[in-house]
Amino acid sequence: MRYVQEFRQAAAVQAWVEAIAQRVTRPWTLMEVCGGQTHSIVRYGLDTLLPEGVTLLHGPGCPVCVTPGSVIDQAIAIAQDPQVIICSFGDMVRVPGERQQSLQQARAAGAQVQIVYSPLDAVAIAAKNPDRQVVFLAVGFETTAPATALAIAQAQQQQLTNFSVLLSHVRVAPAMTQLLADPDCRIQGFLAAGHVCTVAGLAEYPAIANRYHVPIAITGFEPVDILQGIYACLDQLESGRSEVVNCYGRAVQEAGNLAAQQWVERVFAIADQDWRSLGTIPEGGLEFQPEFKSFDAHCRFAITGAIALTSVNDCISGLVLQGQKQPCDCPAFGRTCTPEKPLGAPMVSSEGACAAYYRYRRTQVMN
Ligand code: SF4
Repeated sequence: MRYVQEFRQAAAVQAWVEAIAQRVTRPWTLMEVCGGQTHSIVRYGLDTLLPEGVTLLHGPGCPVCVTPGSVIDQAIAIAQDPQVIICSFGDMVRVPGERQQSLQQARAAGAQVQIVYSPLDAVAIAAKNPDRQVVFLAVGFETTAPATALAIAQAQQQQLTNFSVLLSHVRVAPAMTQLLADPDCRIQGFLAAGHVCTVAGLAEYPAIANRYHVPIAITGFEPVDILQGIYACLDQLESGRSEVVNCYGRAVQEAGNLAAQQWVERVFAIADQDWRSLGTIPEGGLEFQPEFKSFDAHCRFAITGAIALTSVNDCISGLVLQGQKQPCDCPAFGRTCTPEKPLGAPMVSSEGACAAYYRYRRTQVMN
């Protein structure tokens, strides 16, 4: 397959591994932002190929993992109404909320919960069921927000009054800034998420690189992509530079996808946002523009943002998402927390670090 197989070839991987080994003279710590990158790193054992002292921390770029448990609780509360159909991406239905209940459990108890592959599917369900209220649980980063915006605009055009959105979209760059602002931060360079940059472009990154003196390499998801991003960061660190480098040129243009950005700006505004385990991140999410406020499920169902934590478990996902702990540092990993019976979102999601470690049988810290 073009653009994939050549980025998995052993000879190319070996060449980048050797280039990194020759360039590095001292220990460095990088963070890969995206959970998709984490899965590639763990799947192919890329971190085990790096020189001793070069450490990869796993970042918060897993949309399911950072969706607040209170949002899941709100979706479950809305779903108690028999006139409501909740639509969600597949991974989200298995994630426990603050009350340790999931949408999957709510469905088993009789709630109408449908898995969709696109927000436009939820609009179609609303059009076919005019006597039901259809609520789309909108999660994810800059990659999924344009489709949500498009769905809302389409619902408006179709004059659907039975479609609304429980909004929990998040923005990556503010989360990177928050991590770097922590006085205990160990991150010296970032592998930024290539697919986010495909949509959002690079505009937000130079200020971060300059302010915190960290190189940022826009990085793809295949082994060669990731090693190339690692080399780009380490090369800069070794020479005292902190710039933004696009190592994913086959997909990312500096300006990003302007049409997608325009849809997002038309429907949403940047807002402070709660991230699961990370707290409120300034400008870390989106809110409705006034013109589209009628599609906000919070207005339609009079739900509140705060639902008290009623149960506590051993999950250390907050530390995992901030790169302070590895999944196998968690006492519950593989014991009381498994993909079949997850205690936290990182064990559920296809982009979760705990799921990656479990799937590829990583039982100890490799670095
Ligand atoms: S292994 Fe399970 S309990 Fe531990 S941090 Fe990961 S998701 Fe949470």
